[in-house]
Amino acid sequence: EQLIHQIAAGEVIERPASVIKELIENSLDAGSKRVEVEIEEGGVKLCRIRDDGKGIERDELALALSRHATSKITTIDDLERVATLGFRGEALPSIASISRMRLVSRAAGSPQAYEIASDNGNLSEAAPAAHPFGTTIEVRDLFFNVPARRKFLRAERTETQHITRMIERLALSCFGTAFSLTVGRKVVADYPIANTQIERERRVAAIVGDEFMANALFVEHESAGCKLSGWLCQPTYARAQPDLQHFYLNGRMLRDRLISSAIRLGYRDVMFSGRQPAFVLFMEMDPTQVDVNAHPAKLEVRFRDGRHVHDFLFRTVERVLRDTYA
Ligand code: ADP
Ligand code: MG
Repeated sequence: EQLIHQIAAGEVIERPASVIKELIENSLDAGSKRVEVEIEEGGVKLCRIRDDGKGIERDELALALSRHATSKITTIDDLERVATLGFRGEALPSIASISRMRLVSRAAGSPQAYEIASDNGNLSEAAPAAHPFGTTIEVRDLFFNVPARRKFLRAERTETQHITRMIERLALSCFGTAFSLTVGRKVVADYPIANTQIERERRVAAIVGDEFMANALFVEHESAGCKLSGWLCQPTYARAQPDLQHFYLNGRMLRDRLISSAIRLGYRDVMFSGRQPAFVLFMEMDPTQVDVNAHPAKLEVRFRDGRHVHDFLFRTVERVLRDTYA
C-alpha cells in the first residue's frame, strides 16, 4: 500500500508546488473563505495550508489519508498498470507517503478539533487538538524517502517561485476566497476577498501587473452555450512570450493549445505576427461537453466539440477587438 501511494505520488507530485496545488484545491472544495499558505525552504522543509472550510470529522481523518487503499500491486513490475489509474482520492495518501504529514481539523459544528499524523505512511491515532473551524495540513520533509525525486528539485528560490505562481493562478480562479503566502515568516502575498468588480481588478492587477490592467479590455459575452468573461490585453500590450495567459474553464485552470491558438487567431488583424496576447479569461460551459480526466496533473482537457469552442473563442475575441479598434 505504501508502494502504490509512492508511485501515484511520483505521477502527480513533481515538486512542492504540486503539493500546494492539491492542498489548496482541497481547501477550495471544502468551501473555504480564507486559505493561508506558509512555506520554508522552497516548500521542501515545510508546506502548511490552513483554511476555514468545512473541516474533517474525527472519524474521517484516517480515511482521508488512506482512501482508495488497494493491494492491486505488490511489485515494481506492475508500475505501468498503476500509472494509468486515476488520481481521484489519491492526493493526501500520496503526499503522506513521501513526507511527514500532520492533519488538524475541526469540522463544522464539532465541539473539538482532532489531529492525526503520518510518518512514512504510518498513521497515528486521532487525538484531540486545538484548532478553529477548518483544517491545517502540514507537509514536512517532502521527498525525504524518494532520493531520485529530490535530485530533480531546483534551488530554493526556484521552488518558491513555482509555489508563488501556483498560488497566483489559484487566486485568479477563486475571487470569493482570500489567500496569503508566507515565506519564512514573511508575508509575500495577500489577496483579500474580491467580490466587487473593483476588488477583482485589484486582485488581477496585483497578480498580472498594473500595466496589464491599465491596458486591458473587459469582456463579457455569451452565446451558444458558452460564456466568456475577463480581461484581454490591447494589441499594443502584446508580448514576446505567452507568459501572461490565464485561462479558466468552469473554474479550473487550463493550458490548452486549442484555446491559446483560438485567442491568438482573434488578434490576427490587429497584432504584429509573432507577438503573444496577454489575458485573464474565464469560460463557462456545460461540463458534460468537456472531459477533464485526460490527466489529473496536466492542465489539458478534451472537448466533445473542439471546433465549436475554438470558433466561439476566436469570434468573441475578434469581435471585441474589432468593436474597439475598427
Ligand atoms: P480528493 O480531493 O480527490 O477527494 P484528496 O486525497 O485530495 O482526494 O483528499 C481526500 C479527502 O480528504 C477529500 O475528499 C476530503 O474529504 C478530505 N479533505 C482533504 N483536505 C480537506 C480540507 N482542507 N478540508 C476538508 N476536507 C478535506
Ligand atoms: Mg484533492
